Amino acid sequence: MTTIDGADGPPPRPACRPGRRHARRPAPGRPVEHRFAGDATVRGVAIGPAAIAVESPAPQVDPTARADDPAPELARLAEALARSLRQVERLRDRLALLPEDSQIEIGSLLDVYRRMLGPSRLLRGIRRRITQDGLTAEAAVRQETEQLAAATLGGETPSSEAEDAAQRRAGEFREIGRRLLRNLGRMPFRSFSAVPEGAVLVAEQLRPADAALIDPSRIVAVATEEGGATDHTAIMLRALGIPAVLAAHGLMARVRDGATMVVDGSAGTVVVDPAPDTLAAARLGVADHARERQALGRLRRLAARLSSGEKLQLQANLELPAELPLIAQSGAAGIGLLRTEFLFMNAQAMPDVDAQAAIYSEIVTAMAGDVTTIRVVDWGGEKHSEALDRAGLRGEGESVNPALGMRGLRLLLRHPAVLESQFAAILKASSAGPVRVMLPMVTTVPELREARDIYHRVARRLRRKGVRLDDNLPPLGIMVETPAAALMGDALAQEAEFMAIGTNDLTMYTLAVDRASAEVASLYHPLHPAVLRLIQTVTEAALRQYRPISICGEIAGDPRAVPLLVGLGLRSFSMTASAVPRVKRAVRAVSFEDCRRLAHRVMEAPDVAEVTSLVDAFAAGA
Ligand code: PEP
Ligand code: MG
Repeated sequence: MTTIDGADGPPPRPACRPGRRHARRPAPGRPVEHRFAGDATVRGVAIGPAAIAVESPAPQVDPTARADDPAPELARLAEALARSLRQVERLRDRLALLPEDSQIEIGSLLDVYRRMLGPSRLLRGIRRRITQDGLTAEAAVRQETEQLAAATLGGETPSSEAEDAAQRRAGEFREIGRRLLRNLGRMPFRSFSAVPEGAVLVAEQLRPADAALIDPSRIVAVATEEGGATDHTAIMLRALGIPAVLAAHGLMARVRDGATMVVDGSAGTVVVDPAPDTLAAARLGVADHARERQALGRLRRLAARLSSGEKLQLQANLELPAELPLIAQSGAAGIGLLRTEFLFMNAQAMPDVDAQAAIYSEIVTAMAGDVTTIRVVDWGGEKHSEALDRAGLRGEGESVNPALGMRGLRLLLRHPAVLESQFAAILKASSAGPVRVMLPMVTTVPELREARDIYHRVARRLRRKGVRLDDNLPPLGIMVETPAAALMGDALAQEAEFMAIGTNDLTMYTLAVDRASAEVASLYHPLHPAVLRLIQTVTEAALRQYRPISICGEIAGDPRAVPLLVGLGLRSFSMTASAVPRVKRAVRAVSFEDCRRLAHRVMEAPDVAEVTSLVDAFAAGA
């Protein structure tokens, strides 16, 4: 058995979700096949012998334990801190052995750990509990990390992304707490070096720091009983490219060291002691996955060109900085939409200009010369953030229909302090590389003018304070997300320096179908002829005036839809990073003339059913 540094994780989940585990009767003498369903975390199929990583017992801590004298407790804490920092540094040294993409991902997590172990709020809190409350170092660490984790999880989470981010942040506090406790008790840390080559690593739970120790050339897959597809560990495993299924409940009770396992990270299944037909199917899956990876990997270096030679621009949408490594892997040529909402989601207070500028700069630097398009916050409607509420950025009047109320640019103009702080931060970050600034939810030309005046005023103020800015400020552009903006495309194109069509909202406003409502989800069609006509109108308006125009709604990542959009005149697409290789493969297979003919036929279709069948037939024949 392989032992890893274990600890007290989050509270255990129920041992097994009913109905998610299946056993098959084997031929006499063979072990029974056991199948488990979990979260499909990293695509790919792998077969190998199980190597079980058993968690060593967690340090027992009485969270109320008191010490007579704080001085020795502070000294022990200082020693544990120094050891923890040395361990994080050693993990850092291992980074060079990992693939380049993983280095960025894991490196940024280790930076978070390093910051927490430096002069942080966490450490101030621990010291205060020792000196003022008279706690032992262990009790102070336990209380402070748990309290910070609970406070992180207790905030508002307006979306599942925000909830995931809060979970990850809480996990970071707990991870540092566990590390400090182990070092206070001088408990040993072990690595995975004893895991046999080609093995499937099986664990009750894997923490991000454990994942950082995995050598992807030795371990073929990971299967765990706890965790989930969106936590930090999952992001690490994705960065390492190891097929993984997390949260496969009941697994630990059935698996033994050396048992043959099949992990299908695309389907989210784990099989222990597979029957011969399961194994045969898995072997095909392994071969398919290897071929797909090779093909998509090769695509990364190939140009995004139509078969007739025209070059397209495929960029990535980014919602969280943690996605940066995925963007690098995808071969995207820059960020076409950086949604800045993440900065405000869990914050109790508005991040100030310098804090924002630091984050933007980090992203711009990571893009290594490719452009980053930063959209100022699109807040309002039903979405709230405590930080923005405090800054007054809340739609007053509480519209009956929030999507038609105070949101996006109109809300920012009502409370310009937030807009000014974002403009200032973006301008400061522009020294790190090429940047564009984008305004959300524009409906009129005067709105754009007002925002542009503020933009120039902020730039003048920065220059007066001695901040060096380029003579040409980063371009200021707009999202086209309302029928009004699309129909006024010619007027807006005269004043906006670039335009980006946001089909997610454009579809909602054109079809009068709430994009967030399950009740009307079947009526929500970005390929509806009405939406397509607006896309065509605004694209032609922009092209007539040589204004750069792109598209960054979800439709831009749909390989079936992109040839049609090319036929309508678009050349620039921004999408979720993982979609880039597939879209590239689709466009490389078609000529501009094919796309134009497709668009011509589609624009005569009277309804969405006919559009869909034309687009599908084209994709099948391409
Ligand atoms: C859009 O509306 O298409 C868009 C990209 O913006 P968001 O999804 O952030 O509203
Ligand atoms: Mg939008």
